[in-house]
Amino acid sequence: MVFWEEEIETLPRTGIRGLQVSRMKAAINQARKAPFYQQLYEELDITPEKFNKVEDIRDFPFTTKEDLRTNFPYGFLAVDRKNVVRLHSSSGTTGNPTVVFHTRDDLDNWANLIARNLFMVGVRDTDVFQNICGYGLFTGGLGFQYGAEKLGALTVPAGAGNTKRQIKLICDYGTSAIHTIPSYVMRLVSEMESMGVSPRDTALRVMVIGAEPHTEEQRQRVEQSIGIKAFNSYGLSEMCGPGVAFECEYQSGLHIWEDSFLVEIIDPDTLQPVPEGETGELVLTTLNRQANPLIRYRTRDLTRAVPGDCRCGRTHMLLDRIHGRTDDMFIIRGCNVFPMQVEKVLLQFPEVDSHYVIHLETNEGVDQMIIDVEIKSDWFTDNYASLEHLQKRIARDVRDEVLVTPIVRLVEAGSMPASGGKAVRVVDNRESGRGN
Ligand code: ADP
Ligand code: ZN
Repeated sequence: MVFWEEEIETLPRTGIRGLQVSRMKAAINQARKAPFYQQLYEELDITPEKFNKVEDIRDFPFTTKEDLRTNFPYGFLAVDRKNVVRLHSSSGTTGNPTVVFHTRDDLDNWANLIARNLFMVGVRDTDVFQNICGYGLFTGGLGFQYGAEKLGALTVPAGAGNTKRQIKLICDYGTSAIHTIPSYVMRLVSEMESMGVSPRDTALRVMVIGAEPHTEEQRQRVEQSIGIKAFNSYGLSEMCGPGVAFECEYQSGLHIWEDSFLVEIIDPDTLQPVPEGETGELVLTTLNRQANPLIRYRTRDLTRAVPGDCRCGRTHMLLDRIHGRTDDMFIIRGCNVFPMQVEKVLLQFPEVDSHYVIHLETNEGVDQMIIDVEIKSDWFTDNYASLEHLQKRIARDVRDEVLVTPIVRLVEAGSMPASGGKAVRVVDNRESGRGN
């Protein structure tokens, strides 16, 4: 068996659309039980009868992160509180946290999506699955935990941090599959090296990385450093958490599960759909969530639909890796820059380790972009001339990519503090704020 749920994963497109329409009618009814939608939909006279084909979604108003914050904590709750069994809260990377509630069925559907994803990349009930990420309010911990249990794997709920202990667990239990954030993998690998453990001598055979933006260059490094494939996992607390979209064995995009989410990609300025295949903001509607239905939620994540059918036989749409968030972009000296553009350039240098931070500062009235970047220990010589040469090459290549010349500061690998959670890529201390 290649599929976790063959019928649903390979449903013909017309079947997917039909399912979406019927689920959408129920989702509208469900949403109307939440105070926020109740008021809004009454004002606009929105009822399930108004939804008869997928494109009808365009007549519905958007829901934004700001709406979630304004109506915190219970304004989006659509069931009686006695039916809610858990809440999760986003990590608050970009401001105040938001809360999402789950009924038992919500949790079960979520676990099923994770099981579907893990199965898709070859994890089986015979695997030892170590979940290296924060448990608690962050969805990556419990989300993968219950999904991997549903699949039947032997789970090691390792949590985040304590790298030496992680490695000991990998060795002791013969961990064969791990899930973690991409920025942590290189820490894991360098700690393995210093403990004299070769990743190739462990039982590791498959890795899932996600929860934060990363480039193809980063993925390749991660894969080469352990010698196994790393599959990209995308999700956000507002939809459930991880499990929303996931790469299959072909790694040519992430299948987004259209039986659970209705997908739109819009131009964030005009709010109109982008032409097929073009990059825009991902907008998602939950199709079967009970406690916290969200309709036309603006994720602020930028991606595009990958055209064509996937060789794996799954019919659910493929999304390109997330390029970043609309609010990740910063403007410096009139140029729009995404951190992932900088990462792509940095990681093309073999001397560069995987950690870097972009500082934006104002010096004597002029905004500057300063990039602190870790250099691998074996390249970090005391030969000043060669370091200076490297610094110049990095600065030049970054300038060619983003049109602003940065100041590049090289530091030795391991000298930048690890954040413990998602990597912070940009620190903006400019007098003018975000440069807009
Ligand atoms: P927060 O918004 O506070 O970080 P979440 O933990 O819900 O809260 O994070 C969800 C966000 O993380 C997504 O909206 C997206 O920006 C980012 N993200 C998650 N997975 C990926 C991924 N595989 N690639 C890029 N970005 C990702
Ligand atoms: Zn596929």
